[in-house]
Amino acid sequence: MEKPLIRVSSLGLCAARVALSRRPELQPQITPEAQRRMDLGHLIESLRRRELRREGVRVYGPQREVAFGPATGHIDGYLKTPGGPVLWECKSTTSFSLAKWMKEGIPRHIAFQVHAYMEGLSLQLGDAVSSCRIEVVDRTSGEVHSWLYPKDPSVVEAALQRAEFLAGVMEDGTLPEREFEAGSSECKYCPFRSACRPEEAVPEDAATDCLDADGWDGFGDAVQLYLAGQELKEEGEQLASRARETLTDQLRSHAASKARVRGNVVLWSQVETTRFDGKAFQKDRPEIYTEFLKPSTYTRLEIRR
Ligand code: SF4
Repeated sequence: MEKPLIRVSSLGLCAARVALSRRPELQPQITPEAQRRMDLGHLIESLRRRELRREGVRVYGPQREVAFGPATGHIDGYLKTPGGPVLWECKSTTSFSLAKWMKEGIPRHIAFQVHAYMEGLSLQLGDAVSSCRIEVVDRTSGEVHSWLYPKDPSVVEAALQRAEFLAGVMEDGTLPEREFEAGSSECKYCPFRSACRPEEAVPEDAATDCLDADGWDGFGDAVQLYLAGQELKEEGEQLASRARETLTDQLRSHAASKARVRGNVVLWSQVETTRFDGKAFQKDRPEIYTEFLKPSTYTRLEIRR
């Protein structure tokens, strides 16, 4: 029997999530909000492609399908350079996710995705694609951050093993072990969370009036813990902000961009970014801008004193 195809974009996802996404009864409804987010991503990608064209940079092969072992996917495009073809991948995300990315490095699912594309595209073109230009548009500020990301054969190998593993899981049909903890961001934003962890789903008939929780096991303690955590977080942010002021003042007064202290190296640099001008976009294309400014609903946990 032929192995089922895996989407390249799902290589870094939890195997349980990939397996659950194949169950017909669990197909998530695409809400208008989700559809708008996807459309917005495509719109930003095409605007960025147009901006590059104005700068004299042409993106070839948009949405070209490439194969990688049992996986398949569509690239955003590639650039022709004197050093050979370079994969072009355009993402858009919030400032929060981008800050996490800058701090922790490229997320695993994106590393797998671009390595699979580089490898698949090399085979198609018959010319080695040895790097990827990743551009991330910050949807909050409109800035564009760009990296040239070299191909690492060990990541290609890991991605290929992952693709084979996921294909095996799909063929087997059983639900693999959960790969993430309930509190992880992967689980928090997983559309199959209630199927994976039915014990945590909010019942549709949950009472909306305020119940007395005095006798609930551990509930009061958890509230105190949550509030203490929030206070620590605020205090930590203030401490870090004050420390940042001291560090930049000292580096400036010593005319230094790098300093070593107690085994730590403090680096201070000017980061150059290209800004996606959201205000100009709003002015020039008000009809499209307004179309994407629809109200959305979300859930949140809040404690009021
Ligand atoms: S809720 Fe978490 S563990 Fe479960 S399928 Fe989703 S990502 Fe995987």
